[in-house]
Amino acid sequence: MPLVPVKELLQKAQEGNYAVGAFNVNNMEIVQAILAAAEAEKAPVIMQASQGAIKYAGIEYIYALANLAANQATVPVALHLDHGTSFEQCMKCIRVGFTSVMIDGSKYPLEENIALTNKVLEVARATGVSVEAELGKIGGTEDDIHVDERDAFFTDPEEARYFAEKTGVDALAISIGTAHGQYKGIPKLDFPRLEKIVSLVNIPIVLHGSSGVPDEAIQEAIRLGVRKVNIDTNIREAFTNACRQVVMDNPKEIDPRKVLAPAREAATQVIRQKIRVFGSSGKA
Ligand SMILES: [Zn+2]
Repeated sequence: MPLVPVKELLQKAQEGNYAVGAFNVNNMEIVQAILAAAEAEKAPVIMQASQGAIKYAGIEYIYALANLAANQATVPVALHLDHGTSFEQCMKCIRVGFTSVMIDGSKYPLEENIALTNKVLEVARATGVSVEAELGKIGGTEDDIHVDERDAFFTDPEEARYFAEKTGVDALAISIGTAHGQYKGIPKLDFPRLEKIVSLVNIPIVLHGSSGVPDEAIQEAIRLGVRKVNIDTNIREAFTNACRQVVMDNPKEIDPRKVLAPAREAATQVIRQKIRVFGSSGKA
């Protein structure tokens, strides 16, 4: 089936009280891994590309790969821009055929974030594309976006209510203690804050930096109202570690297929496990 908007998937997740996995794509093998995992689990799935992934692979390649995957799939697949930092970047993705964009104005003061988000929403609404926004800074590193860990701050529930009122976005990324990249210790999520935000904001909540968060904590966040969970680092680890293992075991190996096939398989297994944790298995 054709690529679907993220909004559609998150509305169903809201009704069913589960979360949809949003997995970062960088190349063909990862696209194939996400699709294989979603098919095996009969789960709706979001493929998302960061600006870094778009720079690496090319926007047309990313779109073509995800679009082909969606057309071959029996499960619903969405294509989302992860952490778009400008109106122009969002427009490029909408023009190419992405079905969802994130406009991350979290580094701006509240009113500027609202204005930027509404500017993207105006175009997105006219084209049926979903929009995710971010309020509060999420720690760690995502491609070329760095948030100093000391600078990272949690989402204020009252601000979230105001932001939701002024924008009407389809999904809202919040900061409650997760971070991008690999964790040094075990992250501790601020569940009371999440509960408060969900009670004030009638918009599906997105959890970024979810790789390395214990399964039970993710499930508690979903129970409280998280509807989209982003996973990137866990896929990178599985994929690259599998490549490394093949090369170490067979130093003379020169066939890329021999290196990449086990990596694709390792990524598929990680994604399947996440889908089960998110409760979206069997929901397609
Ligand atoms: Zn993120």
